[in-house]
Amino acid sequence: MLALDPALQPVYDEVVSRNPGDTEFHQAVLEVFESLAPVVAKHPEYADAAIMQRLVEPERQLIFRVPWVDDAGCVQLNRGFRVQFNSALGPFKGGLRFHPSVNVGIIKFLGFEQTFKNALTGMPIGGGKGGADFDPKGKSDAEVMRFCQSYMTELHRHIGEHTDVPAGDIGVGGREIGYLFGQYKRLTNRYESGVLTGKGIGWGGSLVRREATGYGAVFFVDEMLRRHGQSLEGKRVVVSGSGNVALYAIEKAHQLGATVVACSDSGGYVVDARGIDLELLTDIKTVRRGRISQYADERGGAVSYVAGGSIWDVPCYIALPCATQNELDDRGARALASNGAQVVAEGANMPTTPAGVRVLREAGILFAPGKAVNAGGVATSALEMQQNASRDSWSFEHTEQRLAEIMRQIHDRCLETAEEYGVPDDYVAGANIAGVTQVADAMLALGV
Ligand code: GLU
Repeated sequence: MLALDPALQPVYDEVVSRNPGDTEFHQAVLEVFESLAPVVAKHPEYADAAIMQRLVEPERQLIFRVPWVDDAGCVQLNRGFRVQFNSALGPFKGGLRFHPSVNVGIIKFLGFEQTFKNALTGMPIGGGKGGADFDPKGKSDAEVMRFCQSYMTELHRHIGEHTDVPAGDIGVGGREIGYLFGQYKRLTNRYESGVLTGKGIGWGGSLVRREATGYGAVFFVDEMLRRHGQSLEGKRVVVSGSGNVALYAIEKAHQLGATVVACSDSGGYVVDARGIDLELLTDIKTVRRGRISQYADERGGAVSYVAGGSIWDVPCYIALPCATQNELDDRGARALASNGAQVVAEGANMPTTPAGVRVLREAGILFAPGKAVNAGGVATSALEMQQNASRDSWSFEHTEQRLAEIMRQIHDRCLETAEEYGVPDDYVAGANIAGVTQVADAMLALGV
């Protein structure tokens, strides 16, 4: 750990004592604070308004009971969350995660990250996150529907197109957004399209929203490479995960001439030197909701499946962690470095541990953080909100072009901010400083 600025250390200490056990939240705050010494020096007005203290305390945190009936007629119980972190720039905005690991600390960390990510997009959206400790794995479609309906039965009173706009995240995709929106509409008697994003095409959704996080991540990498006189053409890429972010990162990487040779799920990873067959992978993961081990069985040829191993052992030029938090640790980072990786860009939220980031930096690997790299998803959600507000729908080409422009702007803003604050070429500091100062300036303007 770096020594924190003396003005920030007591604020961080208070985060730890006020949020006991919320280790991912502590980690996320520390990671941002480590970038902020030049901000504290340049903006004494932030201290006068207790901006740092206010930035780390969510505006509102909701925890609620979610009872539902399974297919056997038994009552099941889960815990639901929504953390409305910061609304200085716009309505709270951020996804819902349904996964057994979810607890209030994870949702707080994600809401905190989301606040600065959303600021970086340049769109008028605040930050929030929610979810439940519900495990969709192995549940029938009817069970997922009843769970979503029960979840929304409580959540609906706390959200709205001008208040808080949830979307998907791990375990929440188009199917779940449909069930959630249906229940919101039933309870409120309003067709309020802008209350959720990630909706289906034909009932208020935006083209490219589904692809946006993965596509955006690859557009960002393309910009990083361009700065160094390179391109994705012919590059060997490893993508962890096989969910929504990973699938569309693979698709765009292939479109831009790279070869993605490995991807994973929680059971293990596959290596396919010919390049991942996206049609097969999509069928297994999204249509059949199956496991990545089936990919090796069905693809045939020289595909290997490694159960439980580390995907970072697979040699590559570019690594895109697109699965979940803390999936790339110092050991994984050392493996990447020793196999000659040159670029790591985070498609997931905080997938690299602090020790992992240190190893990557020491090895001279070009590293960019999730809050910049994966911001294309939420940025396209904001484009969906724009279309909903104007009762319009844009073409795929137009929307993708807007996404590509936004990713380029985020990329440039990170580097320009890093330069301005005396930490040139540091994407982490650039993203943190640009996000924090934008939110902080709005909070100052809005008063206490
Ligand atoms: N869950 C995504 C994220 O982490 C998207 C959120 C949204 O579209 O609101 O940014």
